[in-house]
Amino acid sequence: LTKYPSPSTLGIRSLPSHGWSPPQKVTPRPGSCGVRCRELHAGGERPTPSPAAAPERRPFSRVTPEDLAFFSKIIPDRTITDPDILEASNVDWLKSVSFSEVLLRPQTTEEVSQILGYCNSRNLAVSPQGGNTGLVGGSVPVYDEIILSTALMNNVLNFDSVSGQYRLTAPILCVCICVKVLADGRVLDCLATLRKDNTGYDLKQLFIGSEGTLGVITAVTILCPRKPKAINVGFLGRCMLGEILSAFEFLDRECMRPLNTHLKLANPITDCPFYVVIETSGSNPTHDEEKLHQFLEEAMTSSQVIDGTVATEAKIKALWSLRERVTEALTHDGFTYKYDISLPVERIYQLVTDMREHLGDRAKSVVGYGHVGDGNLHLNITSPTKDPDLLASIEPFVYEWTARFQGSISAEHCLGLKKRNYIYYSKASLAVALMGNIKTMLDPKGILNPYKTLPDDLQ
Ligand SMILES: Cc1cc2nc3c(=O)[nH]c(=O)nc-3n(C[C@H](O)[C@H](O)[C@H](O)COP(=O)(O)OP(=O)(O)OC[C@H]3O[C@@H](n4cnc5c(N)ncnc54)[C@H](O)[C@@H]3O)c2cc1C
Repeated sequence: LTKYPSPSTLGIRSLPSHGWSPPQKVTPRPGSCGVRCRELHAGGERPTPSPAAAPERRPFSRVTPEDLAFFSKIIPDRTITDPDILEASNVDWLKSVSFSEVLLRPQTTEEVSQILGYCNSRNLAVSPQGGNTGLVGGSVPVYDEIILSTALMNNVLNFDSVSGQYRLTAPILCVCICVKVLADGRVLDCLATLRKDNTGYDLKQLFIGSEGTLGVITAVTILCPRKPKAINVGFLGRCMLGEILSAFEFLDRECMRPLNTHLKLANPITDCPFYVVIETSGSNPTHDEEKLHQFLEEAMTSSQVIDGTVATEAKIKALWSLRERVTEALTHDGFTYKYDISLPVERIYQLVTDMREHLGDRAKSVVGYGHVGDGNLHLNITSPTKDPDLLASIEPFVYEWTARFQGSISAEHCLGLKKRNYIYYSKASLAVALMGNIKTMLDPKGILNPYKTLPDDLQ
């Protein structure tokens, strides 16, 4: 703390020197909830902090003018310290707020390598960030970690028209084959385009679910199927859930209220307990349409489906909005408690009904929607403001319920800061301990996305 010039000499705001400072007001800016640190996770003034609360700041170095000079040399004009520009990267989709003072926007693997090599040698913590749409507090720093954004890494490196593979630099996470830069700056190239390769351990898989704690993904390969010639979307109202739903996206009746009220999206069919969105993509429009209509006819005759509508072209987006904008609609209720659960398909909705019964009228909404085909339920509960008593009723109930039925407490959103300490509900102690060993091996100083993914007893 005394070794380096104070942050004010950098023309940037001062930071809490250690630990967790109580939330203080800063001048609110548009899009900001106007608090100084990760208040959302801090547990407020409650005597026992929630397992989601941030742990104490670890003794990482603080950024100095010399550090900024180094970064500016590698990525001139892309080393950002302007608080107004930084703000968008310091606030995530759920309005978790962090207080980083440096945003780096590399464009190449080589730049990422140089940055990480330097940060590792200087013991500077780094928070990798892509689109910043994560929902578990993983993409924004907890304290003053440097934000390493891949937003400018958006180049197509090449396209192989035979295999249909695109190689890209990587602002996205949804792909399988990649180049990573390790914490010390070494570049690990797994960008093989082979479908089959059994030569030793498949190291790229290690990085799936690692949330930027093991390395920074800088390039990916995406396998692209041919663009379908015909797309049909059906929006159906179901009177019951059955195994046929496994191929469908779904939302329940309770989701319609916020969609109608807050986003003015009207239900295009009659009121039903459940709705499913199905999409067909094929090469023969007439054939595909015929097939879909035949399916609908059969489903309605057998009373599995009460009502439905089918769209092509322009109306497709409108139908998909009813599923895709549920998350957004719920934010207008006030505060949303979000759970992203994997369950055996036959259990998938039982959690919603049990939670409703458990909470009674204490919640504004308890809704279920998600990717039923993957056994993935998004259970969302809302209240007008964040309510610690309500939260205490939801957690650990939701996690215990999920563990009882061998589910996963995070199907696709990862663990981030918010859920790191709940990992034991879904993973055996030995598995978690091995994750800790891997982290120590690949990032011995722990500079990569600290406080995230792994539980506090391993950090
Ligand atoms: C409205 C809405 C709908 C959503 N629907 C879905 C859905 O259907 N399915 C789904 O899976 N998710 C969904 N999500 C969650 C989220 O958007 C996805 O998980 C998304 O893939 C996160 O990507 P991102 O680039 O925004 O990552 P970020 O939020 O920026 O980061 C997520 C995590 O990855 C790390 N990270 C980012 N970039 C890198 C990198 N290059 N190398 C290493 N680590 C990195 C970050 O440090 C962080 O821990 C939804 C979110 C919203 C807001």
